[in-house]
Amino acid sequence: MPLVAVIPEPNARVELREVSAPELEPNSALLQVELSEVCGTDVYLQQGRLQGVPYPLVPGHVSVGLLSKIRGQLHDVQGNAFREGDQVTFLDVHRTCNACWHCLVAKASTRCPQRKVYGITYGLDDGLCGGWAEEIYLKPGVRCISLNAEPELFMAGGCALPTALHAVERGEINIGDTVLVLGSGPVGLNAVIMAQLRGALQVLCIGAPEHRLQSALSAGATHVLNIETTSENERLEWVWQLTQSRGADVTIEATGAPIAVVQAMRFTRDAGRVVIVGQYTDHGPVPPEAAFNPHLDLNKKHLDVRGCWGSDFSHFYRGAQLVADPIRARSWSKMKLDRYDLAHANEALAAVASGKVLKALIDPRLSKEV
Ligand SMILES: [Zn+2]
Ligand SMILES: [Zn+2]
Repeated sequence: MPLVAVIPEPNARVELREVSAPELEPNSALLQVELSEVCGTDVYLQQGRLQGVPYPLVPGHVSVGLLSKIRGQLHDVQGNAFREGDQVTFLDVHRTCNACWHCLVAKASTRCPQRKVYGITYGLDDGLCGGWAEEIYLKPGVRCISLNAEPELFMAGGCALPTALHAVERGEINIGDTVLVLGSGPVGLNAVIMAQLRGALQVLCIGAPEHRLQSALSAGATHVLNIETTSENERLEWVWQLTQSRGADVTIEATGAPIAVVQAMRFTRDAGRVVIVGQYTDHGPVPPEAAFNPHLDLNKKHLDVRGCWGSDFSHFYRGAQLVADPIRARSWSKMKLDRYDLAHANEALAAVASGKVLKALIDPRLSKEV
């Protein structure tokens, strides 16, 4: 009887439940969870701020574990069969159909209407489909990826790792670019790392609080600025000083504040690119007094503004490869992790909501030791 942590309904506290082990369908598996994560999205899930979420819900969309039971065949992208005992992560997105207009014509699989996400749009009624659990049911068609690294390394990035990888891909960062990252949460910090991997010469990060800016520096940011102690004009001035008064070549918005989207446009050079990745939850419109000026902020600047929604298999796969490389993995090894057992999921959510911790992980193995 696996133990799971459940959000019963919006705004309710997380509670522990024992659920029956699933019957395995052909070509499915059970994953014994080693680590799952608590991210900003989980805070919003608990507050009922995402649409299309079936409660009761077991959160935890990105997880790492050991394949404890396989029924039938489970293969990696090379065609190699997974075996019981293998350590894997898996793409939290399931059922992308490769048959609809979004998948086939727009080639935007992250917008496929069929797609379901473990820990977000799969609820407890769909089975053991969230990572805050001793076990996860990997339904037929779930894409597993071997993890040849400490689970902590991959989970230090967590969902922010593939998200940031997707964002820098959308930003088409060139060698020698100056990249500005707005936000110093997990996505922002992973974007700082990824921007360097894409060949950025300077990586500027505007965020808060101070301890996260220190993390941005140790992740490789060349310059950081505290948003809490500066005005928009001072921040613009700072970016200009570091970019020969042109603005950043590429700006990645990873803040969750609608106003940052307008500022991202203003901080970017003419004909530069802006990637919006920090508005996964609907935080409403930009306040009227801060609204952008289409002539000055967009058209005249010849600006390229791109949204970035979710991630696909390629981002997870490349992320798992990066953390398996000892040199590339160093950036993630410095990230501070805080572990919570299943019984302390509420405390983990509160710590993430307050920004007190950088990265909170659920470690169901801790519960067993108590
Ligand atoms: Zn589709
Ligand atoms: Zn997440």
